Amino acid sequence: MTTDASSEDDALATLAAHGMLCEILALRAGLRESVRDIARESEVPGLKEAAKRLDLDLIISTERVALHPSGTFERVPSCHPGADRRIVYIGTREGCIRARRHEEDGHIARLGSVLGYPECCIEFYVAQPKRDIPVAIHGRSKRFDIHAHSLLRGITGHGFISNFPCSYACPQAVSLGKTVRKLLCEHDPAFEKDMLRYLASPLLYLGDGREVLLTDGVVKDNEVRDISVALRPAALDLPDFDTVRLDDEEVVFLKEGRAVKWVGKKAGPCILFRFG
Ligand SMILES: [Zn+2]
Repeated sequence: MTTDASSEDDALATLAAHGMLCEILALRAGLRESVRDIARESEVPGLKEAAKRLDLDLIISTERVALHPSGTFERVPSCHPGADRRIVYIGTREGCIRARRHEEDGHIARLGSVLGYPECCIEFYVAQPKRDIPVAIHGRSKRFDIHAHSLLRGITGHGFISNFPCSYACPQAVSLGKTVRKLLCEHDPAFEKDMLRYLASPLLYLGDGREVLLTDGVVKDNEVRDISVALRPAALDLPDFDTVRLDDEEVVFLKEGRAVKWVGKKAGPCILFRFG
């Protein structure tokens, strides 16, 4: 099959709509052997067709995956209600098969290598208890460089890198993010500008993988003001607010200076990621 430019652009647009653009650009530049994501089974044929137009293969996990109300994913038996998703691997056939085998055998460090993650970040990740990895990274971060910011992947699908870094100032993660940013600039500068708006906004972590992006918010002391849009998992039923104040670990949402009530519960310590 010959791949003309417009067919290639269509294919990249399909993958971009699924939040995979940066990873596919990195794959095509030889920075990784496979891209890994989660998709509904009904989305797989469209993604497979897009991959084929780019001369790439797509394979799916033998296991099924379900989405939790908190916005996190879990591998589940096929009889599980809501088990309508699969892990998809895109890349060379060999890279995809290797990624799937490492994942299904539980060799997470080997999977990380196939996905092009920095060694230091892989070592950090495999040594951590799975719960509250963002809290551990936050504690190790002296700076919050947007090039190493992958927390938005669950909210907007955005991020120059797709792994948890060992810190938000990790030189390897920052360098990888800068390289991918350059590739994105060459491919679609308008998309890069859009991404930056989100990556440069502060982020509130409510524990248990739940995050709220405080878009355009300005951090001053223990307050984030001038928030224009708050993006979060649908299950997190937050009030309408324009300011967030952190009193110790307590979160107070404010609208035009008045506290507004949030009936939800945070699952762990509340942390502010000072990106931007
Ligand atoms: Zn690292």
